[in-house]
Amino acid sequence: DSFQDVEMGEIIMSNIALTRYTRPTPVQKYAIPIIKNKRDLMACAQTGSGKTAAFLLPVLSQIYTEGPGEALAAQKSGGQDNGKYGRRKQYPLALVLAPTRELALQIYEEARKFAYRSRVRPCVVYGGADIGQQIRDLERGCHLLVATPGRLVDMMERVDFQQSGLYLVLDEADRMLDMGFEPQIRRIVEQDTMPPKGIRQTMMFSATFPKEIQILARDFLEEYIFLAV
Ligand code: AMP
Repeated sequence: DSFQDVEMGEIIMSNIALTRYTRPTPVQKYAIPIIKNKRDLMACAQTGSGKTAAFLLPVLSQIYTEGPGEALAAQKSGGQDNGKYGRRKQYPLALVLAPTRELALQIYEEARKFAYRSRVRPCVVYGGADIGQQIRDLERGCHLLVATPGRLVDMMERVDFQQSGLYLVLDEADRMLDMGFEPQIRRIVEQDTMPPKGIRQTMMFSATFPKEIQILARDFLEEYIFLAV
């Protein structure tokens, strides 16, 4: 019953200590080892359960141990070049979709705390703000992009996200569907530049598990583990 139970790298462990989370919540206790073992996950967890850290910690630690420096160098050089569609290239290894700007910002702030001094760089994009500025921020290098679905679809017209989304998180999936984001989510996940399921690692979090979420899980996840806390 400790964050020490799973190896996440020294810097991330010390950042957990800085947040003063003393012990994992149930969703963290069960989800972190599953995600570290590279399994797809469907987790039913409420807001307030600690679900944000449950996916951020293993994903950030994976990026960190795989070497953020190399990934960053590759994407910075890629960022200079306009790909075959004339779009600039970005390679955020991890994409996190969230229903609202508020939730996206919360996830981003938590990611910044856990990634402190690790050279892993989180970014956030959402609607209602200047897209050009968000693209320039991405071009400084981004490993983990937190995004609202509508804004990410708009960005995909201007930015080539090829080779990004090797880790894909759908947070509050039921709320995203309630808000009518299913077409945008499908466009993002099913576009041909997204690594296919089985190649990418996909994690879905939802407070409820109605038919529509079950269908999304069937379509997006590969041999997934179901977790209800
Ligand atoms: P979430 O469900 O991810 O929105 O988290 C709800 C709140 O619990 C947030 O304010 C977190 O900062 C906090 N929290 C998450 N994990 C822990 C933990 N292991 N110990 C104490 N607080 C936590």
